[in-house]
Amino acid sequence: MKKYHYILVGAGLFSGVISYFAHQAGKSCLVIEKRDHIGGNIYCEDIEGIHVHKYGAHIFHTSNKKVWDFVNSLVDFNRYTNSPIANYKGEIYNMPFNMNTFSRMWNIRTPDEAKKIIEEQRREIIGEPQNLEEQAISLVGRDIYEKLIKGYTEKQWGKSCKELPNFIIKRLPVRYTYDNNYFNDLYQGIPVGGYNVLINKLFEGADILTGVNFLEEKEKWMELGETVVYTGAIDAFYDFCYGNLEYRTVSFQTEVLDMENYQGVAVVNYTDRETPYTRIIEHKHFEFGTQPKTVVSKEYSTDWKEGMEPYYPVNDERNQLLYQKYAQKAKESKVIFGGRLGEYKYYDMDKVIESAMRCWQQLLG
Ligand code: UDP
Repeated sequence: MKKYHYILVGAGLFSGVISYFAHQAGKSCLVIEKRDHIGGNIYCEDIEGIHVHKYGAHIFHTSNKKVWDFVNSLVDFNRYTNSPIANYKGEIYNMPFNMNTFSRMWNIRTPDEAKKIIEEQRREIIGEPQNLEEQAISLVGRDIYEKLIKGYTEKQWGKSCKELPNFIIKRLPVRYTYDNNYFNDLYQGIPVGGYNVLINKLFEGADILTGVNFLEEKEKWMELGETVVYTGAIDAFYDFCYGNLEYRTVSFQTEVLDMENYQGVAVVNYTDRETPYTRIIEHKHFEFGTQPKTVVSKEYSTDWKEGMEPYYPVNDERNQLLYQKYAQKAKESKVIFGGRLGEYKYYDMDKVIESAMRCWQQLLG
């Protein structure tokens, strides 16, 4: 008999969901987390009474009713709707690409006028789009690509849009209506009381070790449990034996400002190439805060180097092939790999929960 049913490595959403169902089923879990807190990248820090998204803006959105009901069974959600704006050299545009954006860009009013302009501009792309640049132009035309996509995307990924895969831009809706809601999903919101309420509910009943690097004593920890669920970077687990997978990472410069309202919206994207940060987050707006001060974070995007937190997998061809090799090795082992880093996927929160729910079903047999 081992001491625990489950060893969960990393305390983000994937582990949280497994931990929750395991606890409900009367199984024991040991959670091993490298950071000094649980919650992974959805963890919030309280500054001036504001829940600060310490690892970047997280807006929960899903069309999966099962996932929505699950999270709502743990915490209530507010009515926050993400409608960021883009700042291109001082010009302000609504996101995602919709009639408000087109109207401001071309001084037009109707969907027909917008369609006509985009139709004309997309003609330069012949055949199937081969990369992000071609995909973007074929979706919204060159003007929008140049002002609202190129600079932002190249800053975010550190690569030319010609070298990036199409699917990244397909995440963004294009609408011929005056609708600034960033997401097409049926359900959306921020947990009332902040994400930490959700995190604490998910990990209720588990034994938790924070500030512990599992990989330093991998064998010792694995001995302790019947099943190991690992949600860290898959290449690190295998000691980078096939080489390093690439990640992008973000860093934040956070400031408290002595004013009530700095930018009037939670997220402003800086889409030109010259501004060194990609966006500024004003955290209080996620929860309609009325505190006398405000907290803002500038977000910078860089290549991942050892010692940094990896955030985004870089799903280009080289990395996908390399990941396949690791995935094959993982298949042959008893360890379960999950989450953005374990599965090397550009997952949103709801997709991580979905994947963890599936994983739990499989664990049940
Ligand atoms: N994007 C863009 N301009 C923007 C916002 C997004 O070109 O103002 C592109 C960019 O390539 C980005 C992708 O759309 O990588 C997906 O954006 P999303 O906001 O979904 O990224 P996340 O919030 O996950 O960082």
